[in-house]
Amino acid sequence: MPNKSNHDPFSNALRQLANIKDIIKLEENIYTQLQAPQKFLEVNIPVKMDDGKIKIFKGYRSQFNDARGPFKGGIRFHPDVNESEVKALSAWMAWKTAAVNIPLGGAKGGVIVDPRELSDRELEELSRGYMRGIYKLIGSAVDVPAPDVYTDPRIMGWMMDEYEKLTGQHDPGVITGKPLSIGGSEARYYSTAQGGFYVLDVAVKKMGLSKNATVAVQGFGNAGAHMAKILQKAGYKIVAVSDSKGTIANVMGIDVEKLEAHKKKTGSVAHYPGCEDLGAKHCLGQEVDILIPAALENSITSENVEAIKAKLIVELANGPITPEADEVLKKKNILVVPDILANAGGVTVSYFEQVQNAYSYYWTEKEVLEKLSKIMYDSFEQIWKKKEEYLTDMRTAAYILAVERVAQAMKDRGRA
Ligand code: NAD
Repeated sequence: MPNKSNHDPFSNALRQLANIKDIIKLEENIYTQLQAPQKFLEVNIPVKMDDGKIKIFKGYRSQFNDARGPFKGGIRFHPDVNESEVKALSAWMAWKTAAVNIPLGGAKGGVIVDPRELSDRELEELSRGYMRGIYKLIGSAVDVPAPDVYTDPRIMGWMMDEYEKLTGQHDPGVITGKPLSIGGSEARYYSTAQGGFYVLDVAVKKMGLSKNATVAVQGFGNAGAHMAKILQKAGYKIVAVSDSKGTIANVMGIDVEKLEAHKKKTGSVAHYPGCEDLGAKHCLGQEVDILIPAALENSITSENVEAIKAKLIVELANGPITPEADEVLKKKNILVVPDILANAGGVTVSYFEQVQNAYSYYWTEKEVLEKLSKIMYDSFEQIWKKKEEYLTDMRTAAYILAVERVAQAMKDRGRA
């Protein structure tokens, strides 16, 4: 059972579901089934370290719901991975695929490890070992993993190779976010940010914010760094950026391309020349129009929410705002574009990757972006419509739409 702490991710995920249960008159028999993942696997992965000693790493795969299609969700390598977090992320995936109406369910995986402390060989061993642990539970028509925090296309390539060795056949659709040479999709590597940009673009118009609005980005990894680059190109002014080691700020604007080169060289955004250096926590309270949390869950809590000055928050990270903090943001009239919409660009292009793998026929970057933008703009409008219909916030509206879709699929399968 998840503990009752405000920062327990799965408790928070269940509270978000509970919040809309009565609004949509969700049947008790469906609600009961949505209180836990359909399946949850724990694996212990032995890895021979470079010093010759075996070390055991714990990993998980949570399959939350597959009523709308095969389970789908990334794999996180992080020292703070835990059972509750993986379960919460798997539930959010089920709502996300439903919110943007792609025919997939929700899952998530994770390994408790700091991959930055492993050599390349150890990381490959761990990735292959994790796949050996979960391979019987996954498959291109069953459950399809992808990258998440501290995992990337190279790791997906190793995992796919291990899966294909174990099963003796080519099946690139078993995992997404792969390198292009082995069945990856054009635009996948920046699709989370690109999808986030499309919905941000509409939110900005709805709010009447100007195109040179100021932005702070928390987290400078796959999601955050690409978002910062896309926004800068579109004319927005990036004035603060953070990663796990620090925050840098400059009211005159930060050159994101140069910052990326600095991070590549030094391992962090900290100490980027010409910027003020602040602690990692200071990114959130910056004087900006738009705030992009793109790091981990529970970043904005009841302890720091009062310091938020942004008018618009676009949740590129999963679960960055606790339910208590969310209430405060509502009262402060800050528009929050919720994670299950804002960061759905990643899973949407993962879905495109699966489709391309299934047909062995590949699309151009332009084709991928056209299809992605349509899904993101349409989904924003559908959620906005629900927001107005129910006179509520965007998160509640997105949950209403998503849970209704999952519930309908469960009913149509006779699972109620
Ligand atoms: P990543 O590993 O590429 O980057 C994570 C970044 O967060 C790093 O820059 C790290 O330094 C930073 N970070 C960690 N702790 C921090 C802290 N306390 N303060 C500030 N920064 C901190 O991971 P990612 O793939 O960019 O994922 C980021 C978030 O986006 C996660 O919540 C993830 O679940 C979500 N997400 C990612 C994808 C995707 O396709 N990659 C898709 C949907 C959602």
